[in-house]
Amino acid sequence: MSSGRVSVIVIGASHAGLAFSHKLLRLVPNASVTLINPSSAYYFNIAAPRFLAKPESLPPSKYLFTIRDTFDEYPNGSFAFVAGLVTKIDYSTKTVLVRSEKNVGDESSVSSVAFDYVVIASGSTTPATLGQGSLKLPFKATAFEDTQRAIYEAQEKLRAASRVVIGGAGPLGVELAGELAEAPGPKKVITLISKTDSLLEGATETVQRTAGLLLQRKDVDIVRNVTVDRADQNPVTGNWTIVLSTGQTIAADEYISTTGVIPNNEFIPKSFLDRDGWVNVDQYLRVVENETSRDDTYAVGDITCHPYRLLSRVSLQGAIAAANVSASISRKGYLTTYSSESQKKMMVVPVGQSTGTGHLGGWTLWGCLVWFFKGKDFLTYEAPKFLRGKIQ
Ligand SMILES: Cc1cc2nc3c(=O)[nH]c(=O)nc-3n(C[C@H](O)[C@H](O)[C@H](O)COP(=O)(O)OP(=O)(O)OC[C@H]3O[C@@H](n4cnc5c(N)ncnc54)[C@H](O)[C@@H]3O)c2cc1C
Repeated sequence: MSSGRVSVIVIGASHAGLAFSHKLLRLVPNASVTLINPSSAYYFNIAAPRFLAKPESLPPSKYLFTIRDTFDEYPNGSFAFVAGLVTKIDYSTKTVLVRSEKNVGDESSVSSVAFDYVVIASGSTTPATLGQGSLKLPFKATAFEDTQRAIYEAQEKLRAASRVVIGGAGPLGVELAGELAEAPGPKKVITLISKTDSLLEGATETVQRTAGLLLQRKDVDIVRNVTVDRADQNPVTGNWTIVLSTGQTIAADEYISTTGVIPNNEFIPKSFLDRDGWVNVDQYLRVVENETSRDDTYAVGDITCHPYRLLSRVSLQGAIAAANVSASISRKGYLTTYSSESQKKMMVVPVGQSTGTGHLGGWTLWGCLVWFFKGKDFLTYEAPKFLRGKIQ
C-alpha cells in the first residue's frame, strides 16, 4: 500500500476488466488501478460476425478503441495501463510478472508489479480465434497479435470463399451464416452444421424454429443431428474437407468452427481452477482456493466458473466485485452477492441486416425488435459505454 494508495491489479482489459476498473475508481478515490493487457486496444468482438462478413458495414473505429484515453477522468496516480501479458501471480512477493511484447523470449526483462488486490479478468478464447481446426477468425483478441491486421486477413479470406461450412449452430454460427449469406459479391454456398435437430440450443422452441426458417429463406443449407469429426485443410490449395459423424464429407473453400470456449488461464495457479480450467469464485466473486475464499483475489467475466459466458453478464459482475473490493478496503465487510441465476436469460440473434430472432426471459422478440436492439449495427452503439464502464 505504498504512497497511501491501495494497489489493485486488473489482469485483462476487455469488457469485464474495464467494467471493474472504472467502477472501482469511481468508488475508491485512493485506489491505484493498474490494468494489464497485451494490446492497448479494446476490441468490441460482439460485432465480429457483421464486420468479418461485410467489411464495409462497420469501420474499425466502431469496434477498436484506445483504452488509456478513457481513464483521463480520474486523478493523477490513480490509473496506469501496462501493455503486456501476465505470466505469473506470485503470492510470496505479492507481485504479478508481466511480459511485454518487445521482450518475447527474453526472460531477464520481464517486469513485476506489486499488488494489494488482484482481479483476474483474462477471459476466454476460441478454436477459430487460434486457427485450430478452423479458418482463423479473430472472434477474440489474441495476445501480441495486431487485431486490425488479423481482421483484415480474415475479411479477405471470407471475401474470396464461395463455399463456406460453419460447424456449430449456436448464436455465433447462426449470426455468421446470416451475415455471410448477405455478403457482397457472388452468392456463397453456406452450410451450417447443427449437432441436434434444432438451432440455438437453450432458446425457446419458437426462436429455434424461426432461426431455421430465416436461414432457409437465405438459402443456407442446414445439416442437422450431425457433428464435425474432423476438418482437414489441404496445405497446398488451402481448401477444406469436413468429415461428419455420419462418415459423409463436405468440400469447402473455408471451414469455420463456432464451437468451444477455452479459458485464458496459463498464468493462474492450478489451485484456483475447476476441472474444466475456469476460476472458482464465491458469491462475492472472491477466488476460492482449496475451499477457502481469498481476501486479496477476485475474478470477473468469462474466466469465472459461472456457466453463462456472455457480455450481458460482465457489467454486473464488475460492479459487484468493485463494491466488494471497496468494502474490503474500508473494512466494512462484504456487501454484495452475485448469482448468475438472478440475471435474466436472453438471446438476441440477428439473421442478416434486417431481421432475426430471440427472447427476453419468456418473451419472444419480433424480427424488427432484433434489428432495432442489435441487427442494425451489432451493438456497436453500446461499445463506448462498455469501454467507459457506463453499463449498469
Ligand atoms: C464472436 C463472439 C460474439 C459474441 N457475441 C455476444 C453477444 O452478442 N452477447 C453476449 O452477451 N455475449 C457475446 N459473446 C460473449 C462475450 O464476448 C464474452 O462473454 C465477453 O467477451 C467476456 O468478456 P471478458 O472481459 O470476461 O473476457 P474477454 O473478452 O475474453 O477478454 C479477456 C481479456 O484478457 C486479456 N488477457 C488474457 N490473458 C491475459 C494475461 N495473461 N495477461 C493480461 N491480459 C490477458 C485478453 O487479451 C483480453 O483482452 C460473444 C463472443 C464471441 C466470441
